[in-house]
Amino acid sequence: MANIISHATKNISHSISNSWTSVLYSTLLISGSRLAKTNWEKHFMIWLAEHDQNHVGLGIVGIDFDNIYWSASEFEKQKEFVIGIAQNAINKKSWINLDYKTDEKTIAGLLNLWIDVFSDAQVNDIVPMDNFNWYHKPKPSEIDMKCPIHHIFLNQLGKTEKDCCYLCHDN
Ligand SMILES: [Zn+2]
Repeated sequence: MANIISHATKNISHSISNSWTSVLYSTLLISGSRLAKTNWEKHFMIWLAEHDQNHVGLGIVGIDFDNIYWSASEFEKQKEFVIGIAQNAINKKSWINLDYKTDEKTIAGLLNLWIDVFSDAQVNDIVPMDNFNWYHKPKPSEIDMKCPIHHIFLNQLGKTEKDCCYLCHDN
């Protein structure tokens, strides 16, 4: 089984194995959780953290451009952030902060696929949405919650802090 990272309406689509999807999202969470400053950026990271196959199931955590809650007026900044978290991960080799060793070439390749999906997207491509498609929308008080061990944003899918951390939960 696999997950698809795509901008389907532009015929861009990359299939990534379930286990490599976890490595990719973990790496993006490490990188992006240090970069997110605005509310939208924090929400994006928490939404990404909800794509946890241990919680929601295997092979259903793909991300399409059209699934993202973009705002037309902020699109360029939002796109810069979504691409930037992957570029920063490549520059800083963020995967070295994972609790396991991973193949550097493969993860760098996946981060480049992520960049590829978003880099040609234009504001006209946005599909209007009211919000992210949350499993469990964070309350305002939960937006800044991070794992004290991994310093990544938490989803609200678990009963304990550990269950809500993409990386603690993985172990
Ligand atoms: Zn953690």
